[in-house]
Amino acid sequence: MGGFLTGFLKNRKRERLRSARFPDEWLCILKARVPLFHRLNEVDQVELMWRIQVFVREKQFEGCGGLEMSDELRVTIAGHGCLLLLHRDVDFYPLLYSVLVYPSAFLVPVNQQSDEIGGVVHEGSDLLCGEAWPTGAIVLAWDEVCRASSDDHDGTNVAIHEFAHLLDMEGGAADGTPILGNSDDYSRWAEVLSAEYRHLRRANRRGRRTVLDQYGTEDPAEFFAVVTETFFENPIEMKLRHPSLYQTLMAFYRQDPSRWRSGVDRRTIS
Ligand SMILES: [Zn+2]
Repeated sequence: MGGFLTGFLKNRKRERLRSARFPDEWLCILKARVPLFHRLNEVDQVELMWRIQVFVREKQFEGCGGLEMSDELRVTIAGHGCLLLLHRDVDFYPLLYSVLVYPSAFLVPVNQQSDEIGGVVHEGSDLLCGEAWPTGAIVLAWDEVCRASSDDHDGTNVAIHEFAHLLDMEGGAADGTPILGNSDDYSRWAEVLSAEYRHLRRANRRGRRTVLDQYGTEDPAEFFAVVTETFFENPIEMKLRHPSLYQTLMAFYRQDPSRWRSGVDRRTIS
């Protein structure tokens, strides 16, 4: 009952925010820091602004390594995260409690044991620009978020990448399969994504570059995060070269970024 009431009140607060005014300063931040915003139609822009208001109010943001938290960081990060939720009747990253932001790449201790019995434990540290934790946090390097979002056509975007990992984790283990609509979707998903994953690994072994970033060859979870970045940032080429993959992601995200307004026009006008 308590859970039902909490959910009811939460939904009511969220619905109230639909009529709340989106602050002018936030709109300036959104236009400057989330270039993909310009490519959405007006209906989607309104939905995105509503989702950002919910996200910023419900999630905790924390500046790390001396970085001071500000609306610029909150709105930019929420803007990228909420882009993946548009048109979808889903909760706002229910696993996510906290967004941690460092000024730049951050060191993460690595402690990996090999699969063999009595295998060697590798210890050390990795320099990362983003990380998603199943325990309820994402960690981002602010300079990398800005760099990635300043070019909305290069196919890479660290914020979108980490939010895709969160969606993947909602489906259980981070294995490249988020929660899908029905059981038929799972077999189609497995068929298309594993074929494309094998294809990317083969291309990588042969030294061939594709529209998908080679980092996607790491494992199926990274593959899903990488193809999500490409789907939003380089949709036309992805649709052309990987039509089945594009269609599968289009069905999942309920969006067709290849039909968005062209960001190129905006840049060539000036
Ligand atoms: Zn990743």
